[in-house]
Amino acid sequence: MLERDPTEPPTTGREARESWERPGVSRLRRPVLEFAVAIAAARIPGVTVRRGDGIVRFVLGSEQISGVPHLVGVETRDGEVLHADLIVDASGHNSTVPRMLAEIGQVRDTEDRAEAGFIYYARHYRDSGRGLPEAAQWPLLHQETLTAGCLPGDNGTWSLILVASSHDRQLRALREVDAWERAMELFPEYASWTQHG
Ligand SMILES: Cc1cc2nc3c(=O)[nH]c(=O)nc-3n(C[C@H](O)[C@H](O)[C@H](O)COP(=O)(O)OP(=O)(O)OC[C@H]3O[C@@H](n4cnc5c(N)ncnc54)[C@H](O)[C@@H]3O)c2cc1C
Repeated sequence: MLERDPTEPPTTGREARESWERPGVSRLRRPVLEFAVAIAAARIPGVTVRRGDGIVRFVLGSEQISGVPHLVGVETRDGEVLHADLIVDASGHNSTVPRMLAEIGQVRDTEDRAEAGFIYYARHYRDSGRGLPEAAQWPLLHQETLTAGCLPGDNGTWSLILVASSHDRQLRALREVDAWERAMELFPEYASWTQHG
């Protein structure tokens, strides 16, 4: 599913092609990547994938080192306790782990956060059967307060993005499809991309 079709050039622009095909770059939508990783994980013996089980708190065991809380598991939203020898936090940008640790007390907060300050307003498109637009490029256009871009995806898909400062409250109107489409119309370079999908 994720293999690139060698007959489908992602672009006619040499520079863009090289940048998207360099090692480590995957041209695919996030849900597709997550689906592939989930399938691979489910095939690993001994791994159980549990969905929708939000973790709400840590379970404390008896102290092993004086003054250091000893975690022995986690509790799900439904109140189920899962015991563990090792807990790995991979809960991402909006992690609730700092709050859960604060509830235990005693634990020093070592979290280091850096806000990049950008917000993406994106829409995904799928090739409607006509192939990619003729002059296929993956343009990125910078205006004073807004950047517009076109990103290649998997299986004949692409996304158009508008990137703004997360502090720009007026531009949050771009969450509405109608406003987003009207804003994208201001970039004629993308006309073929919006009409082709
Ligand atoms: C709009 C946008 C575009 C991006 N584009 C790119 C890109 O093109 N290329 C790129 O490399 N990166 C991109 N990134 C960054 C990339 O998405 C992140 O760096 C990456 O997802 C971080 O992975 P992660 O596993 O640390 O966290 P996440 O992907 O955030 O995963 C955390 C997971 O933990 C789960 N979780 C959280 N709290 C709990 C809890 N209490 N209990 C149970 N589960 C919980 C969440 O539901 C989630 O599934 C983009 C990010 C954004 C927002």
